[in-house]
Amino acid sequence: EVKSLTELEKLHPLGQGSGGAVFKVRHKPTRAIYALKKISSSAAAAETQEEVSIHRIASSSPHVVKFQGSFQTPNGDVSILMDYMESGSLSDHAKASYHDARLPEHAIADVARQILQGFSHLHANNIVHRDVKPSNFLVNNNNNNEVKIADFGVSKRLPTRLARCDSYVGTAAYLSPERFDMAAHGSTYDGFAADVWSLGLVFLELYLGRYPLLEPGQKPDWPALMCAICFGEMPPKIPEEASEEFKEFIGCCLEKDPCKRWTVQQLLGHRFIVRRPEEEEERTQGDS
Ligand code: ATP
Ligand code: MG
Repeated sequence: EVKSLTELEKLHPLGQGSGGAVFKVRHKPTRAIYALKKISSSAAAAETQEEVSIHRIASSSPHVVKFQGSFQTPNGDVSILMDYMESGSLSDHAKASYHDARLPEHAIADVARQILQGFSHLHANNIVHRDVKPSNFLVNNNNNNEVKIADFGVSKRLPTRLARCDSYVGTAAYLSPERFDMAAHGSTYDGFAADVWSLGLVFLELYLGRYPLLEPGQKPDWPALMCAICFGEMPPKIPEEASEEFKEFIGCCLEKDPCKRWTVQQLLGHRFIVRRPEEEEERTQGDS
């Protein structure tokens, strides 16, 4: 167990985001390796505490990057210590391990199953993530690459299951249509359904090897994104060779009407995720 920041030796930076900087660190007494996220001091104290407490609760799921403790320096800076994820973000992993960063369907089903199980735990605890995107999932080297949920920087723990969200946060490209409406008209949205939309985009991005809603090379500015997300055809065109199960699964996530969109629990039962054992066997034989 790490007792204080002074026991840690900084090795090198792992990433830099809007929420802070992440470093690879070594615990000097045990030589164990961790990742340390220093939350930028511009964040309000209450928001920083929210990130820490949500990550701690979320971390009881094996599909969330394990929280190992939090530290506060005398000047008020807060950092979160967590497991080091060797293969980096899901986008790094896709680029490094697959041609054109395109995952085959069985690999997407495997990733989606792990992520949905993690979200089932979050949503059951009334936690909405609100910043679902490929760089916020991390991959390690255990049992042929476990994928885990990270970055609770803009997450929220709602007081009840039916509570609605009313603030504009997250990354524009992965916002659901109703969240764009909310940004324009000041209404509220169902945070759970909004997470599911963004998950659908991430899964489709793994299939295509690129962000699904813009043409390659198109500038991802606010008007282009709003137009594509709110007025584009949904689900977007998926290549002919994709399986019916996969197309249907993406359609259940990228349903414009948040009331008709599937919940995480429903998606865990979808035929794309629950493959029959004999199908699994055919697949592994086909691979070898
Ligand atoms: P953003 O605003 O870009 O979402 P952020 O400041 O909120 O980022 P994180 O998403 O928590 O910060 O981390 C930023 C990046 O650092 C990740 O995308 C990843 O590349 C790297 N990183 C974070 N945590 C770990 C970890 N535990 N192990 C390995 N790499 C990590
Ligand atoms: Mg991030």
